[in-house]
Amino acid sequence: MGAAVPKQLLHVGGRPILQWSVEAILASGQVADVVVVAPPELALALPGYLRVPHVSVVAGGDRRQDSVANGFDTLPSATDLVLVHDAARPFIDPGTIARVIAAAAASGASIAAVVATDTVKWAEEGAAERRFIERTLPRESVFLAQTPQAFRRSVLADAIALGRQGVEATDEAALAEKAGHRVQLVEGSRRNIKITTPDDLIIAEALLKADQDDGGGTTGRAATTVRVGSGYDVHRLVEGRSLILGGVTIPFDRGLAGHSDADVLSHAITDAILGAAALGDIGQHFPDTEARWKGASSIDLLARVAAMARERRFAVVNVDATVIAERPHLGPHRQAIVARLCEALCLSQDAVSVKAKTNEGMDATGRGEAIAVHAVVLLESRHPNAPE
Ligand code: MG
Repeated sequence: MGAAVPKQLLHVGGRPILQWSVEAILASGQVADVVVVAPPELALALPGYLRVPHVSVVAGGDRRQDSVANGFDTLPSATDLVLVHDAARPFIDPGTIARVIAAAAASGASIAAVVATDTVKWAEEGAAERRFIERTLPRESVFLAQTPQAFRRSVLADAIALGRQGVEATDEAALAEKAGHRVQLVEGSRRNIKITTPDDLIIAEALLKADQDDGGGTTGRAATTVRVGSGYDVHRLVEGRSLILGGVTIPFDRGLAGHSDADVLSHAITDAILGAAALGDIGQHFPDTEARWKGASSIDLLARVAAMARERRFAVVNVDATVIAERPHLGPHRQAIVARLCEALCLSQDAVSVKAKTNEGMDATGRGEAIAVHAVVLLESRHPNAPE
C-alpha cells in the first residue's frame, strides 16, 4: 500500500478497516471471543474499539502463520471451534460466518471461497516478462480462497504445529491440508474483498456507499438508525485547581471545581452520548459518592461511555460542542482538545467540533466564575441484523 500504517489501520468510510472487521464479527452474534493479532505498537496504544468486552489483543509474529499461532495460544480452553479471519476483509457478512461455522463443525475444517469467474490459465515455467500458457484450467473447479477459515480446535492445532516445524503456507487451510485434513469449501461472498491495493480502497469506499444508499438491503448490513443526544454541564472556576478541558490541561490561574478532574467539556459530551443511547446520565454511571471516581480522568470516562455505546451497537458519528468561557481564550488549545477527543472517541478530526463563546459579561459564566458547555452528539447504529 505504501502507507505509513499497516493496511488494516487505513480508513474506509471514516473508520479503520480493522474496526469494520472486528465489529462485523462481533455483530454477527456467532462468535464468543475475538483475539486481534496486531502489531505491537497497536497493542501499546489500544484504540477504543478494541477496548470492549470479548475482544483481546495479542502481538503478531513475523509471518501470518506465526501471528495465528500467537492468537491460538491465548484462546480460552473451552473454545472448540476457531475462525481465522483476515482483518483486511472488512465486508465479512453473517451468512458467510454461519456457513463456515456449520461446515467446520460437521467436517473439521472449512473455508469461505468463491468460484473463479475469469478463465484461468496455467502458465509454463518461464521468465515473468515473457510467459506462455501451458493449459487452461476448468474454472468451475477453481476456487479463490477467502477468510474466515474455520477449524475444529484440534485441526487448527495440527496445522499450527506443522507451521511451527517450518512448513510455510499462505493460509491456515493449506497447513491443515498438508497435515492430512480435508477442508470443505463453502460459498463466500464477492463483496468479501481483501483490501491490498489503493484500488481496493476505492472499491471498498464504493461498496460502503452503496450499502448506505440502499439502506443495507442487499448486503446484510442493516439500515442505519441515527440517534441524537444533547449534553450540558457547568463547573465553578476556583483557585488551586488545574483547568482541564477535553482531557487537555490549559494554563490558567484557576481551575474547575469538582469531585473528578471537573473536565466540563468531557462531561457534556459524555452526557450527550448517554442521552442519545438512552443510557441515563454521567452521575448514574460514575457517581461522585463513589471513591473510585474521585480524581477520575473524565476523558477516560468519556472513552468508556463511547465503548459502552458501541457495545449496544451505537457508534459516534460526530460531536459538536460549545464551550462558554469568558476566559481563558481557547483558540490556541482548540486543536489539542479536538485531537484528544478524537482519540478518546475513535473519530477522525473532521468529526469533532469544539467552539468557544464568551457570555458577553452576563451572569456567572460572563463574570468568569464558571465554565459551561453544551454538546450535541449523533450516534449511528450501523451493524447487520442478527443472523438467521
Ligand atoms: Mg460535570
